[in-house]
Amino acid sequence: MQYINSTDGEWIKPDTLDDLLAVLDSVESNVRYQLVGGNSGKGMGSYIQKTYQCFSLCLTFILGVFPNDGPYDQYIDITGVTELHEIVQDDTYLLVGGSVTLTELMATLNQASARTEYSYCARLAEHLKKVANTNVRNVGTVAGNLMMKHAHNDFESDVFNLLESVGAQLSIMNTTREQSLYTPREFLDISMDKKVLYFIFFPQLDETYKFMYDYYFLFI
Ligand SMILES: Cc1cc2nc3c(=O)[nH]c(=O)nc-3n(C[C@H](O)[C@H](O)[C@H](O)COP(=O)(O)OP(=O)(O)OC[C@H]3O[C@@H](n4cnc5c(N)ncnc54)[C@H](O)[C@@H]3O)c2cc1C
Repeated sequence: MQYINSTDGEWIKPDTLDDLLAVLDSVESNVRYQLVGGNSGKGMGSYIQKTYQCFSLCLTFILGVFPNDGPYDQYIDITGVTELHEIVQDDTYLLVGGSVTLTELMATLNQASARTEYSYCARLAEHLKKVANTNVRNVGTVAGNLMMKHAHNDFESDVFNLLESVGAQLSIMNTTREQSLYTPREFLDISMDKKVLYFIFFPQLDETYKFMYDYYFLFI
């Protein structure tokens, strides 16, 4: 475990899930902390806000203004937590760790789609190509994206929509290592204080399921 004190706040870098949970357990109630994955979410609020402002002030008003995140007292860098990078694919499961990047997720989904029960995954991977850009997808993680949706309900997360539409489940772990499974929609309503988005479970679906996902533009 590494500790760095900077003017921004204290940085802690655990190497294992146990260390991460111990750090979370020790966070005092008056301390504002943030987990850091790809760190691409920083400033995302203002990015979205500026994008909407380009369309019109009216749209900004309708969609709402995101509050600025932070500052935080403690930053917990989770990039070294190996368990969160795991991908498990066998006859019964396709599990993807929370810290898997969007680029890695696309590769995993393409690979999984070779099996009939995961053939829908090819369509998910195809859609993920439209998310952000290569640089962001290379560092941005699945859990980071979903947690942004958790914090800002009005963030139009493609990842959230894709996972909800195929019936994926999210495993959330607390500091005593208890895990609970939630649908993406249910996850939005739970407290994530001192919890970790551990992995995403992809269901097996038979060929009668056809996955379609398209953008529609509404002109008013
Ligand atoms: C220019 C740009 C364009 C984008 N375009 C799109 C788009 O078109 N569609 C779309 O859906 N998204 C888009 N995004 C969002 C992007 O997918 C996310 O920024 C990225 O996935 C976040 O992952 P991260 O690892 O960088 O998160 P971070 O910035 O590191 O963290 C974000 C939040 O997640 C929390 N967190 C991270 N990991 C965990 C965990 N395992 N457990 C609990 N909490 C955790 C952190 O505490 C933090 O609050 C865009 C982003 C950018 C910058």
